[in-house]
Amino acid sequence: MMSKLAALGGTAAVPRERRRVEWPLIEDEDRKAVLDALDGPRLVSDTDGVNAVSILEESWARRFGFGHCVAVSNGTAALSLALAALGIGPGDEVIVPALSFIATGLAPVHQMAVPVFADIDPVTFNIDPDDIERRITDRTRAIIPVHLHGAPADMDRITGIAARHDLKVVEDAAQAPGATHRGRPVGGIGDAGSFSLQVSKNIPTCGEGGLLVTGDDELAGAMRRGRQFGEVIEAGRERDYVSYGLGWNHKMNALQAAFTVAQLARFDEYERARQRNITGFLARLAKLPGLQVPTALPDTTHAWHILRFRFDPAAFGLDGVRPEALRSTVRRLLRAEGVPMSQYQLMPLPDQKVFVDRVGFGSGHPWAVTGAPGTVAGEDYPVTRAVIADSLTIQKRHLHPGSGDLLALYADAFEKVWQNLDMVATLAKAAS
Ligand SMILES: *Cc1c(COP(=O)(O)O)cnc(C)c1O
Repeated sequence: MMSKLAALGGTAAVPRERRRVEWPLIEDEDRKAVLDALDGPRLVSDTDGVNAVSILEESWARRFGFGHCVAVSNGTAALSLALAALGIGPGDEVIVPALSFIATGLAPVHQMAVPVFADIDPVTFNIDPDDIERRITDRTRAIIPVHLHGAPADMDRITGIAARHDLKVVEDAAQAPGATHRGRPVGGIGDAGSFSLQVSKNIPTCGEGGLLVTGDDELAGAMRRGRQFGEVIEAGRERDYVSYGLGWNHKMNALQAAFTVAQLARFDEYERARQRNITGFLARLAKLPGLQVPTALPDTTHAWHILRFRFDPAAFGLDGVRPEALRSTVRRLLRAEGVPMSQYQLMPLPDQKVFVDRVGFGSGHPWAVTGAPGTVAGEDYPVTRAVIADSLTIQKRHLHPGSGDLLALYADAFEKVWQNLDMVATLAKAAS
């Protein structure tokens, strides 16, 4: 039986009153944790002894199995501090994926290093190891693989390339806490890993926060010094106010730390529900022709931070129609049904004005240090461009552990749109 599309006056598959979903989930434990921290003796991380920040660092390291965890103010600061602690600086190049959040491209620039963008894999949306190899020069010092949308990057290939060329690896795991690659937690496979606790991420704080992890004692020490003015802060040792190296103020606030400790205690329960809800949802959608659903590769756990779907015009009998026309048609029809499809990243990172115009530290720096060419808008990165043109995402709603029923309604909406493929094709042709 075919029902009328909501965009054409039919009844929406997702009733209006079912559409609102909270994220993050704020429970009484979270409120209590924040209030307790507020009444506690230590509101900053620069004191010795136990405080909310050190408790978060220990809980995170223990839960995921990291050697060291260093809490910082946000995920962007975490990335640039990791590069600083590894000695990446002026004249160095850092290879990053062309599809990511802007922070991954900015972090090298914060260290006056030049970001060099590599194309992505069409299925995992993660950095393509072959393209990493093509972009290595004698100035390359590091790679930042991003576990985009929660899917582990190809760490076997990436660590192999890094070992052969003597490069450092900083994993940007902002979207992937809990994801694993061959049984190992992402973030703990390269030299260092960074996480974001920004309020929209899988394990949030009530605002901004970030975490660095590493198995290397010395590197952890360098991260701690860099977090606090270059000072050495150790339990039982009086603060001496000496800067032993360049540092920033990237400290985390105790209230943010306390909130995340409370969230972390519920993470496993949430994660089990999410895995169940999302795999069930994707299994239904995988049956629809011309729809590429996200998948977890064998021997990996996907954290499903964002669900990205690609639409193939050929499967709709739309050869020659621009993928953007199909994408915007599907977006309009699904949104009318109550599924909040949206884009994530409107352009490849190298097209961002900051990189095209080389808006750095003045006089063309950091690019001027090496004479490296800046990026040119519209150049290269065919896979990244294709993915941005032909895909849409679902964000946040599916993170709620109780979203199983809502995802079933979303699946009804997709199926309904797919029952009207002729109409989709007509509208996409008109939009083209
Ligand atoms: C969110 C995010 C960041 C930055 O984290 P903030 O805490 O917002 O600074 C970095 N990289 C990726 C891939 C992200 O999604």
